[in-house]
Amino acid sequence: MERVPFSGIRDVFEECDRLERAGRDVVHLEIGRPDFDTPAPIGDAAREALADGHVHYTSNYGIEPLRTGIADKLSAENGIEYDPDSEVVVTTGATEAVLVTMLALVEPGREVLVPDPRWTYGPITSLAGGEPVPYRLDPATGYQPDLDSLRAAVSERTELLVLNSPHNPTGGVVSEGRLDAIADFAVDNDLLVLSDEIYEKIRYDDHDHHSPAARDALFDRTITINGFSKAYSMTGWRLGYLAAPAELVDPIVRVRQYTTTCAPSLSQHAGVRALESGLHEPMVEAFARRRERVLERIDAIPGMSCPAPAGAFYAFPTTPAGHPDAEAFVHSLLADTSVAFVPGTTFGDAGEGRFRIAYANSLDRIDEAFDRLEDWL
Ligand code: PLP
Repeated sequence: MERVPFSGIRDVFEECDRLERAGRDVVHLEIGRPDFDTPAPIGDAAREALADGHVHYTSNYGIEPLRTGIADKLSAENGIEYDPDSEVVVTTGATEAVLVTMLALVEPGREVLVPDPRWTYGPITSLAGGEPVPYRLDPATGYQPDLDSLRAAVSERTELLVLNSPHNPTGGVVSEGRLDAIADFAVDNDLLVLSDEIYEKIRYDDHDHHSPAARDALFDRTITINGFSKAYSMTGWRLGYLAAPAELVDPIVRVRQYTTTCAPSLSQHAGVRALESGLHEPMVEAFARRRERVLERIDAIPGMSCPAPAGAFYAFPTTPAGHPDAEAFVHSLLADTSVAFVPGTTFGDAGEGRFRIAYANSLDRIDEAFDRLEDWL
């Protein structure tokens, strides 16, 4: 447990809870939780499934129509062919997909290359008995994985490389050229690749999404992970999935029998409807408007800057002038103004002097947060 710390997000979250119980109006820009209702047709599908009595355990792999829908989606949108009967597993959120992949495929004592900064791949690697080893993302290139850093971090004990694009917490999107170089690196070092693509549908400007597994050189070694939480505002439904060649899925499903067995059945039926729809599009348009506003407001504050996020709904700016310590800045601001962000170091050493803004909240609330921040400064 020494290697499984409490997350810094939880510190901020609990402080928000205390403030709200004391009657304060907290502006939440700390959590990666879209503020929209889940689109109505998705809820309707769950209600229909309940009325039809779909309330039981499902196959460990998930219900057949959802697995088929996922395989069709991965073929049509990502150019990857998986067999829905043996190569697709529906999970209880993408979080479980990452956990069971690590538990099944990372041998105790082996190393896992994780981006710095990053979402919670470090503690999950530790839970599986592995050793997380950070590699650098380069702010000057919009947070592309840095090849020199990858080469310096890899060793003969490295088993798996984690890629996350679009990226939490920076909004970076891996370019096609950089993915070419990473593919060579993964093959040369005989690494498995875990590709977390949960923000795939939330991208801006002309940034394309490239799935590593669509490359012949990577298909056999890649576990593609995705989910419904972010694109469809379904964080509470706990629905995600992984897809990989059957040789990799077999051990994962063996582990999976002993974690959550299957994803919630009503959520699985709702997921079938989500995949059939373009229901995420208005939400992505709203995120794009919010991103513009966040960037404008960041620009107006001395000391704060960040590359324009290419995807996801996070900005990762430097702290305002005169507040170099991000932990102190975030906690004082929260105590004094009830505006909640997350200190960058929560996501790794590279977060020193930065903090994360989650613009999964309305334009009004974003403006409210920045107005309070400017007054406070
Ligand atoms: N992967 C990344 C990069 C995330 O940021 C998150 C949630 O914040 C998840 C996975 C977890 O998603 P889920 O709700 O599907 O478990």
